Amino acid sequence: MTKSIFITGTDTGVGKTIATLVLGTLLQKEGYDVGVMKPVQCGGNDADFLRKSLRLRDDPAEINPFFAREPLSPHLAFQREKRRIDVQKIRTAYECLRQRHDILLVEGAGGLMVPLCGDYFVADMVRELGLEIVIVARLGLGTINHSLLTIQQARACGITVRGVLFSEASPRKRGIPERTNPREIAKLSGVPVLGTIPHLKSVRRQEILRRCRGAVNLNQVIRPSGEVAASRRRQLLAWDKRYVWHPFTQMKDWLTDEPLVIDRARGSYLIDTAGRRYLDGVSSLWVNVHGHGHRIVNARIREQLNKLEHSTLLGLSNTPSVELAQKLTAIAPKGLAKVFYSDNGSTAVEAAIKIAYQYWQNTGRKQKKYIAHLANSYHGDTLGSVSVGGIDLLHKVYRHLTFPTIAVDFPDCYRAPKGKRYPDYAFECLDRFEAKLKKRHGQIAAFVVEPIVQGAAGMIMWPKGILKRMAGLCRKYDVIFIADEVATGFGRTGMMFACEQEGVAPDILCLAKGITAGYLPLAATLTTRKIFDGFVADYKEQKTFFHGHTYTGNPLACAAAMANLEVFEREKTLAKLAPKIKFLNRKLEMFYNLLHVGDVRQRGFMAGIELVRDRKTQEPYPWQEKIGVRVCEEVRRHGVILRPLGNVIVLMPPLSMSVEELGRLLDVTYRAIEKVAGTL
Ligand SMILES: *Cc1c(COP(=O)(O)O)cnc(C)c1O
Repeated sequence: MTKSIFITGTDTGVGKTIATLVLGTLLQKEGYDVGVMKPVQCGGNDADFLRKSLRLRDDPAEINPFFAREPLSPHLAFQREKRRIDVQKIRTAYECLRQRHDILLVEGAGGLMVPLCGDYFVADMVRELGLEIVIVARLGLGTINHSLLTIQQARACGITVRGVLFSEASPRKRGIPERTNPREIAKLSGVPVLGTIPHLKSVRRQEILRRCRGAVNLNQVIRPSGEVAASRRRQLLAWDKRYVWHPFTQMKDWLTDEPLVIDRARGSYLIDTAGRRYLDGVSSLWVNVHGHGHRIVNARIREQLNKLEHSTLLGLSNTPSVELAQKLTAIAPKGLAKVFYSDNGSTAVEAAIKIAYQYWQNTGRKQKKYIAHLANSYHGDTLGSVSVGGIDLLHKVYRHLTFPTIAVDFPDCYRAPKGKRYPDYAFECLDRFEAKLKKRHGQIAAFVVEPIVQGAAGMIMWPKGILKRMAGLCRKYDVIFIADEVATGFGRTGMMFACEQEGVAPDILCLAKGITAGYLPLAATLTTRKIFDGFVADYKEQKTFFHGHTYTGNPLACAAAMANLEVFEREKTLAKLAPKIKFLNRKLEMFYNLLHVGDVRQRGFMAGIELVRDRKTQEPYPWQEKIGVRVCEEVRRHGVILRPLGNVIVLMPPLSMSVEELGRLLDVTYRAIEKVAGTL
């Protein structure tokens, strides 16, 4: 059964309060404990009227947390009283009331597009509280337009409409519109009509029960919300197993498991087809930034959708890709002046490698042919990016297909070789790289790295100074320095880009994952003017960068990326992140209490917890034991989604995750490790 429902109107004065009273009275008669809430009220005494009529004992300040005296639109009424509506306070009162009653009826203020403060609308509050709505409409001429507009807006905002409830404004006899409108609206919108509340001479309980019983379809009002029907769920599972080939997945195991099918998401939560909620602890594989279903990002994509969905960058340009290129070069480390678009992290790196290689070909140093990379790096799964990758488990089988490179040994920050100490050993490795550069720099085109945090290698974090040293070496030996910030970009390490942590300006910067806030596939390879100029020549010289993808610079994805940056500014995401990073840091310390936690490492909102069989000897769990997978299966039973990297439990929450949610994420993870590792 539904716990709460939001009651909105097609306009102000259409009978919302009466409708709330009628629904409350009828539901009470059915034996439900009904509560009401009127989060925002300007003038009048609707909240008090409902509280008394329904004989509720809740605190009036909970029922109506925000009251302004003047009967004006809330944004205006509160502005004139020099107050602000605080949605957090509404949420707190809402949660209290919801706990206390079987059903909570939340009455809106006017319609969905009534502004509460700034450009935050009633609809945004409804979305944030996760409510479904009943629309109250006046019966009579004009109601088709108003009802359909409200339904359309609800849908555009991703709000589910339970139905339309009509309210008869006058005791006059029903004419043609009154008799035909409900049916037309149901037909045109596909939204059910819940009934018609007749004109009431009095709002006494007896009168309501006498006139309205049977006039409203209560079952539709309180039917179980949101979830996909059981038969459909079974069908989806069967089809998934029959038709879908999942990435990085042994499909033999998959077929014996019970896969989770995600149907919706909001904020930090993913919601499955059965309506179960899961905290998204890895940002849907390191992409989500401001939470799921963010109102601004959703709105900007929708606005773009109605203008231009796609047009090519081959021979043409388009508005959002131009705007985004300007914006990216403005926020990127100094010197990056040109943006080359593609659509995922692997292709961002692939383009970077080809640009670096061709740059030297174009500028006459044809021996500079080799790409250097860290031996334990990960740069994606296309063959070019696999060539510069070094994670054997993922890359070994394709070795024959890849091109020769120069692999630079680099330590795992937890396991330096015998007799060596980290971080000193990391610098020692770079000394060796320098020796190699001294000899071979005439053959080395570029050096590609994941700055500060090597993600897929197991969340390996570099000691301070390494990044700066690498950039310096590249400058000294005239090697193009490529920073792959596909994972670390867009705030993950606590700053917009990891390179900023050490004031490093790479020659080429690769961006993807978080670039669209986790909404759409998009990548960007940024280069300096100098590199770009290496390709600028007469057509017949054939120095063109002959590379590109069909969806390059897709307008929807670029609009999402612009919205991502807009939200960074509006919500001061990075400033708000700092205290949460500290909180995460304090909580992570606790994990050392667990016997099988060998190492806990964190940089910003990227963290890895490495599990070991024996802490003293650092003996790893054999991979066949799937310890990481088992911990993640355990957290899932407690409503948390994680995905491990071997024996490393990865935490990479959306930057928007609240302190409370972070606390829960860590508690659940802690207990899961305790439980799973304790039994091995
Ligand atoms: C994920 C990742 C990639 C590959 O990105 P895809 O979009 O999966 O192709 C490349 N580099 C780094 C550092 C990554 O984390």
